[in-house]
Amino acid sequence: MPSSSIEKRSNSGLAETGKRTLMRVILASTGVTLGGFSVLQFLAGNHLFALLEVVMTGVLLYGAWRIVHVRNMTPWIYLYIIPTSAFITYIIIMPDASKAAFVWVYTIPLMSYLLLGRARGFLLSTPLMIIPTVLYFEQHKVALDTAGLIDLGNAVACGLLIIAFVHIYETLRAAAHAQLEYIAQTDALTGVMSRGSFQQVLDGSIAEAERSQAPLVLVIMDIDHFKGVNDDWGHDAGDQALRHMSTLLKQRLRVTDSVGRLGGEEFGVLLRNTDSDRAANLIEALRVQIVSTPLQYGEDIVPLSATFGLAEWPHDGRTSNELYRCADKRLYLGKSRGRNQLVGRDYRGAEMPAHSLNPSL
Ligand code: GH3
Ligand code: MG
Ligand code: MG
Repeated sequence: MPSSSIEKRSNSGLAETGKRTLMRVILASTGVTLGGFSVLQFLAGNHLFALLEVVMTGVLLYGAWRIVHVRNMTPWIYLYIIPTSAFITYIIIMPDASKAAFVWVYTIPLMSYLLLGRARGFLLSTPLMIIPTVLYFEQHKVALDTAGLIDLGNAVACGLLIIAFVHIYETLRAAAHAQLEYIAQTDALTGVMSRGSFQQVLDGSIAEAERSQAPLVLVIMDIDHFKGVNDDWGHDAGDQALRHMSTLLKQRLRVTDSVGRLGGEEFGVLLRNTDSDRAANLIEALRVQIVSTPLQYGEDIVPLSATFGLAEWPHDGRTSNELYRCADKRLYLGKSRGRNQLVGRDYRGAEMPAHSLNPSL
C-alpha cells in the first residue's frame, strides 16, 4: 500500500476497530446518562421532556448494539455528534438551565478528533463549540466586571486549551501510527511491500476481481544463482543487488501493479486488469532489462538474471493459495529448464499447461 494512503487512513482518527469500540462506548454511555436524567426530569415534573429522553435512550442503546455492524461509520458519527451538540446547546440555554450543563460542550472536540481525525475534527468541533458558547453568554448576560470576565475567561480558555491539546495529540498520534504502519508494510531493505502487506493486497485484488470479473496475474520472481553473488562479492553486494532489482521492478511496472518481497531473493508481482498475454509481454521486457542492466558494484560488474513463474486468475486458480502454488511450480520449472526465463500457461509453458504440470516439480 502506498504510504500516502496509509497516511490518509491514519489521519482520519483512530483505526477502524478502535473507532467502532469507542463509538459503542459513547452511544451506550450517552444512553445510560440520558436514561438517568430522564428519571430526574420526571421527578421534577417535566414529563414531556422526560419522555423524549426515554425515547432517545432507547435509540442510543439500540445504536450501541448495532454500530459494530455498520459498513461506513462516518455518517453515523456525524449523525451522533451534531444532534448531541444541538441537544447540549438546548439544555444550556433553556430557561432554568443548570449552569454546570456547559461542561458537556467540552466533550465535542474530544469525540470529533478521535472519531474523525484532525482536519474533520477541527472543522466540526470549532463551530459546535463557538455556537453554544455565544448562546450561553447571550442567555446568561455576563456582566463586564472582573467576576464576569473571569467566568468568561474560564469557559473560553478551557475550551481553547482542550482543542489545542487534542489537536496536538491527534497530530502526533496520526504521524506515529502512519510511521508504524509504513514500517510494518514495507520491506526495510528494498522499500517494496512486505510479504504480509503483499498478501493483503493480493487477497483484496482477488475479491475485487471476483466482483468485476477482470483477470489478474500473479508472478513470482526468483533471482538466479543469488547465493553465488553473496559468495563471490559479499553480503553487501547481495543487498545492493536486491535493491537494484527492486528499483528495476518498480521502474518497469505500471502504477496499478504491486511488488512485494516474499522472502530472501524472491519477489511477488501483482498485475491487475491484465491477462496472461499482456503480463507475459511486460515481464519478458523486465527479464531482458534485468539481464542488460547488471549491478555496478564498485569497480565490478555483477551480472544478474531472474526466473519468473506466472499464474492468471481465474484460469490457474481462484484463491491466492492456488495462484501461489501454480506460479511456484512454473518458477521451478523455469529453474530446471536453465533459469533466466518466464514460464506461464501460454508462454514457454504452453506445451505444459498448469493442470498437466507434474505436481512433484
Ligand atoms: P537459484 O538460481 O536456484 O534460485 O539459486 P540461488 O542461489 O538464488 O538460491 P538459494 O536459495 O540457494 O540461495 C538464496 C540465497 O539468498 C541464500 C541467502 O544467503 C541469500 N539471501 C537471502 N536473503 C538475503 C538478504 O537479505 N541479503 C543477502 N545479501 N542475501 C540474502
Ligand atoms: Mg534464487
Ligand atoms: Mg529463492
